[in-house]
Amino acid sequence: MTLEVLVIPLLRDNHGYALVDRSSGTAVVIDPSEADPVSTALHAASVRPVAVWCTHHHADHVGGVPGLLERHPELPVLGSAFDLEHGRIPGQTRGLRDGDELVHGGVAFDALSVPGHTLGALAYVGAGHAFTGDTLFLAGCGRVFEGTMPQMRASLARLASLPASTRLWVGHEYTARNLEFAATVEPENVAVAARLEAVRRRRAAFETTMPGTIGEELATNPMLRWDAEAVLRFAARRGAAATPDEVFARVREAKDAF
Ligand SMILES: [Zn+2]
Repeated sequence: MTLEVLVIPLLRDNHGYALVDRSSGTAVVIDPSEADPVSTALHAASVRPVAVWCTHHHADHVGGVPGLLERHPELPVLGSAFDLEHGRIPGQTRGLRDGDELVHGGVAFDALSVPGHTLGALAYVGAGHAFTGDTLFLAGCGRVFEGTMPQMRASLARLASLPASTRLWVGHEYTARNLEFAATVEPENVAVAARLEAVRRRRAAFETTMPGTIGEELATNPMLRWDAEAVLRFAARRGAAATPDEVFARVREAKDAF
């Protein structure tokens, strides 16, 4: 069984996704910040939505849920149990816990709890794909709003341990800017330089930079490279950097100010 992923550009730089099962003509919608472009994309692909999977409660990821529910009142809306308990995803029908399994198109996906950006953040992982919301970006990561730096690093480490070929579909088109920052952290990293050039070409042609892979992230994402010599040196110039958590915190802080 193969699933197809459609990238749906939303708002200014958000990504919604449709996880399409052609055999049944159905799609799971992931992170619909707006309803209309999602409906248009589903219509163009001749599929009907069977569920909404939310990575976290921020409005730029769930803002389109009420509009989709108006058109499809029976649509199950899934997100974390934490977000359900706090009533922060409109129309949420089910709260997921770490390791809960979902099936779409005969393919199993795991909901992984990845707190840090928010405490209810989830990633959906299956069939060689990972939908990471605002936890892991291509060449970067989300801001640490609700969790702690160690919590965010643990979540990123968990995603980084997925197979290198895992295709990453993330919440925002921030890849070029993230690589510009990565180049300041590791000016000698040729993989960063090459990826930045490739990403700039794609953006100049108005193409998405999705998907990335875990393998590319391990080579170029400074938020995952707390063991790399140049990243350690970069962090040490900015404060305490004796542990991987401290190295990650210094790099994340530097990105906040970039
Ligand atoms: Zn967010």
